[in-house]
Amino acid sequence: MLLSEPLKFATPVEGVTAFNLTRGDADANPYSEVNLCNYTGDSTIHVVTGRAALCEHLRIPIDHLVMPRQTHDNRVAVIDSQFMQLNFDERNERLQGIDALITPLTGVCIGVNTADCVPIVIADPVTGLIAVAHAGWKGTVARIATQVVQRMVQMGANPANMQAAIGVSICKRCFEVGDEVVQQFEQSGFDIGRIMHRYKATGKAHINLQLANKLTLHEAGIALSHITIAHRCSRCNPHRYFSARRLGINSGRTFTAIIRR
Ligand SMILES: [Zn+2]
Repeated sequence: MLLSEPLKFATPVEGVTAFNLTRGDADANPYSEVNLCNYTGDSTIHVVTGRAALCEHLRIPIDHLVMPRQTHDNRVAVIDSQFMQLNFDERNERLQGIDALITPLTGVCIGVNTADCVPIVIADPVTGLIAVAHAGWKGTVARIATQVVQRMVQMGANPANMQAAIGVSICKRCFEVGDEVVQQFEQSGFDIGRIMHRYKATGKAHINLQLANKLTLHEAGIALSHITIAHRCSRCNPHRYFSARRLGINSGRTFTAIIRR
């Protein structure tokens, strides 16, 4: 069973749909029920079956579903008509170590796989460019959101026109971090007073990763009123979304994607 939830922009962008899959009838199996990620220990047949079901649902050929092999870095790949002509191995090579995708193409679904990390989708209604990014805390510190916006600008888009949405990911209350992580955010220039909260009872620091990415998108030129946050926490809802902090890293990933028709 394939279930998805819409991921909404503040102002809908014509022809563009963003969404995330949910776990459906999740059971004790950490890959249940739908997982499209092929590098976190799931069986190939389960991953391929899920991808095929999504393509059927979207009415696109299987090779029009594109997702990167993420590595918590800030590299961006552009999925253009040249990419679409590459063979299977060449594509995989291009998608290695990539955490964000941009495409000018219609009918191509680009997405990322996350379990607590922050998925971001961006659409530019003027150029028609769409993008998706995976921002864990490392990618957030490395400002992957900025990398995506800047590349879209190089491709002719203006941040003033862009709409962004931040999807299912870990909430501040769930995201306890060590002080070394707080330091990295500080060193990277984040306003720590805005994104970090230290709970009195535990003395532990918690970071609001969703807000950190919203502020980064804003810094890159997108109006705050053009950035939505889904406010759905993966760790608070592990039966609905995959959560690495609940299920361990050997588990499925929630697929968050965008497509323009
Ligand atoms: Zn939570």
